[in-house]
Amino acid sequence: MGNACSGNELPAEEGGAATQETAVKTSGTPPPASPKPSAPKEPEVERERSVEFPQIKSTHSLVAKYVTKDVWNQLAAIETATCGFTLAKAIACAVEFDNQHCGIYAGDWDSYRQFSLVFDPIIMEYHGISAEAKHTSDLDVDKVVGDIEPAVPVHSTRIRVGRNIDGFGLSPGITKKQRLDIEKLMMSALSKLSGDLAGKYYPLDNMDEKDRKQLVDDHFLFVSGDPNLQVAGMERDWPEGRGIFHNEAKTFMVWVNKEDQMRIISMQKGGDVKEVFARLAKGIKEVEASIKAESGKEFAFDERYGYIHSCPTNIGTGMRASVHVDLPGWAAEGLEALKSRCEELSLQPRGTRGESGGQTGVTYDISNKHRLGYSEVQLVQVMIDGVNTLYQEDLELQKKHNMNKDDDDQNDHEQKDSEPKESENEEKPAE
Ligand code: ADP
Ligand code: MG
Repeated sequence: MGNACSGNELPAEEGGAATQETAVKTSGTPPPASPKPSAPKEPEVERERSVEFPQIKSTHSLVAKYVTKDVWNQLAAIETATCGFTLAKAIACAVEFDNQHCGIYAGDWDSYRQFSLVFDPIIMEYHGISAEAKHTSDLDVDKVVGDIEPAVPVHSTRIRVGRNIDGFGLSPGITKKQRLDIEKLMMSALSKLSGDLAGKYYPLDNMDEKDRKQLVDDHFLFVSGDPNLQVAGMERDWPEGRGIFHNEAKTFMVWVNKEDQMRIISMQKGGDVKEVFARLAKGIKEVEASIKAESGKEFAFDERYGYIHSCPTNIGTGMRASVHVDLPGWAAEGLEALKSRCEELSLQPRGTRGESGGQTGVTYDISNKHRLGYSEVQLVQVMIDGVNTLYQEDLELQKKHNMNKDDDDQNDHEQKDSEPKESENEEKPAE
């Protein structure tokens, strides 16, 4: 488990260092008053509201660092206009669990503004950006140089981004009605996609269990039951309002109302990252155009924070570009060594069954580590170059560990038994 996006790692050196100073700079900014009229509140909103300074179990979290008593006293009584979100709800995971690194979610776009005393310094520290930083988005595939070398044993490539629409809550705060409205809007907007993107929407709540399991096993569909997401409020009313759209070839999909209103995904077998990226870019554009035609609405985008996501670790590009790749040499060298090498290359290793699924054999999920402060093109480039580098190093490590082709199967088996499993409660970097 641990399929949460609250990150257990600080970003590379640029991350940790930049921040104390810049944090102080912004924390004087008062939260802007929201222009929106108050929305009707759900009863639970009133019930959960508490003005008493909470005991934060994650004592080393960014929440513990920035939600001081003084800050709490200024913000505790605020309820956001879009869905009545509160600071207490935003920090529920840090209060409830002792293992959070970040520990905060936004319930709507307003949360980032109204609780900026907390979000701003956390975002700057986590992503290593300055108070003046502006986010640039660039999905131009022609700017990507080279691709993963044909010799690299890549099983599959997947790139996803998150997207949300203003005026509706984000997953931790979204009301039941807003969630259903988003689903309705998405069903209609997605039904208009044409050509190779054309497909069908499958709501989760009347999905056949066999079909659901197959989609999960094939790496296409999300699952429920993550304690972090539950405490953050993201599994309220599950599975109502959630679903998956996919094209016929299952190379383009949109997850609706999971951690974000949308996760837009492009994936296919093999290591042609450029083709996957090109399809993603086209898909994002067409989905946005269709939503606009349908409702007049656009994706929530902030000058500083890029695309707004429910988890501040995901803001910016919200993009994770990954390959499933065999790295037997690195597997023999050990997971800790691979992790720290990935860190140097601005990459992140995961198990192949997703963040919540754990590791199998010598195949790893390798993806870009950063989300904010770099464009999509830059992050895809980092992934391509890094995977090529890891492969070259893997060949050396195979020699070092006296592995040759004939030993591969043997090693596979040994690995399965000794591979550390991802622990239930361990937190992960950006989801
Ligand atoms: P994300 O947070 O980016 O959505 P997760 O780690 O939660 O990613 O994984 C979601 C699903 O996507 C899982 O089933 C995982 O196995 C699958 N997946 C991720 N990367 C790839 C890839 N390169 N090829 C095939 N499946 C992938
Ligand atoms: Mg995920």
